[in-house]
Amino acid sequence: MEYEAVIGLEVHAQMLTKTKLFCSCSASFGDDPNANTCPICLGFPGVLPKLNRQAVEYAIRTGLALGCRINGKSVFSRKNYFYPDLPKGYQISQYDLPLCSGGNLKARVLGDDGRVAYEKEVRITRIHMEEDAGKSLHEASRDIRSSLIDLNRACTPLMEIVSEPDIRSAREASAYLKELRQVLLYLGVCDGNMEEGSLRCDANVSLRPKGSEKLGTRTETKNVNSFRFLERAIEYEIRRQEMILSTGGTIVQETRLFDANTGETRSMRSKEEAHDYRYFPEPDLLPLVVSEAQISDISARLPELPEAKRQRFISDYSLSDYDAGILSSDKVLASFFEKTAKLCGDAKVAANWIQTEVLCEVKDVETELPKAKVTPETLAALITLIQKGTISGKIAKDVFGDMWTSGKEPEEIVKSKGLVQVSDEGELAKVIDNVIAANAKQVEQYKGGKQSVFGFFVGAVMKATQGKANPAVVNRLLKEKLG
Ligand SMILES: [Zn+2]
Repeated sequence: MEYEAVIGLEVHAQMLTKTKLFCSCSASFGDDPNANTCPICLGFPGVLPKLNRQAVEYAIRTGLALGCRINGKSVFSRKNYFYPDLPKGYQISQYDLPLCSGGNLKARVLGDDGRVAYEKEVRITRIHMEEDAGKSLHEASRDIRSSLIDLNRACTPLMEIVSEPDIRSAREASAYLKELRQVLLYLGVCDGNMEEGSLRCDANVSLRPKGSEKLGTRTETKNVNSFRFLERAIEYEIRRQEMILSTGGTIVQETRLFDANTGETRSMRSKEEAHDYRYFPEPDLLPLVVSEAQISDISARLPELPEAKRQRFISDYSLSDYDAGILSSDKVLASFFEKTAKLCGDAKVAANWIQTEVLCEVKDVETELPKAKVTPETLAALITLIQKGTISGKIAKDVFGDMWTSGKEPEEIVKSKGLVQVSDEGELAKVIDNVIAANAKQVEQYKGGKQSVFGFFVGAVMKATQGKANPAVVNRLLKEKLG
């Protein structure tokens, strides 16, 4: 029997607020263990949580960007469970009345060639806010195994973005997560750092006979923290469930963990149902009420989103879908491109230079590009030198390399190194005459009809002028002289 995978993702995004969700402790990552804690986030009895306004705005901003309905009234609940990293015994979350409902995101799914094969629309079920739990650190020292608890992360603000089970393959899942991460970065509500856990993903996977509408039993693979791991975890889970179903077994509903070393998922615990948590309304927080005015104010301040930018790059700059996709994939890169294009007046050339030379030099666009010594201004100046015929495209690549390390202006480099392109016909004619005189054998071949020898002459002239000859002029003069 042929099976179809049914996949839904739950994404936890840590919101980029300075302080935690219900207290004024710092929400920064990597500080000394337990440095950022107070009676509220430690859950001491009798303390009162106070909701972070910025976090609410970030969640609404995200909801609006994803086309969700923002609920005027939402409610916080206590999700009760015991875990060492949650000493107060419950997590404040939203349950039956979340801040945002509905919505959708269009993901661009790549084919084997790395190009966009098709677009996939994934519906969003809900976005709710919740506090994070602490972190357990397991250490072995002096033959004693000890577990330590760091509560810096306790009470940091999370958005949980839950999708409908619309995803059908591992590739679609990672395309969705990539697009979602881009949107969050554009909105400035999450730093998207998967290694540090600011963006984590749980994958719900089930299988059903192809053509069937009924959902199969699902498993949830927890906290996958890279695109590659997400694809591998889902692929493994699909294979595992297929094997069980095709041999007549049944899938156990459970929570699983992905092991990056073995590439396998393994059982962590049997899946809890919502009633196991005994959700009840958080008695210390009033229902969250947001007004229409607040929502429209936030809506008016939404930045241009990746999809809109991509479309605009295609229509305004006549870029291909592929180029527009790359150049809009990052806010910093997109603005670098746009500035360069405007300054040099040729978007296509600017796009090519950025995609080849610039992206070849930077690994992390977000952090490295703003500090690069080549700026949109100097790159545009370099492109202008090529357009004016001052230097050839080939020489320009060397000048770019120099600009990248020295930070000098392109004109300065061209002048000091004597790289100005030779377009003077008299000067080039002399060089060409010398080349023709020195290569009688090739001239004979060319005149005998061997067209391919022409390239040899161009190369020889270029070599004689250290690459500075204007190729267009060389081509024309050579044709004239060779007859
Ligand atoms: Zn605190």
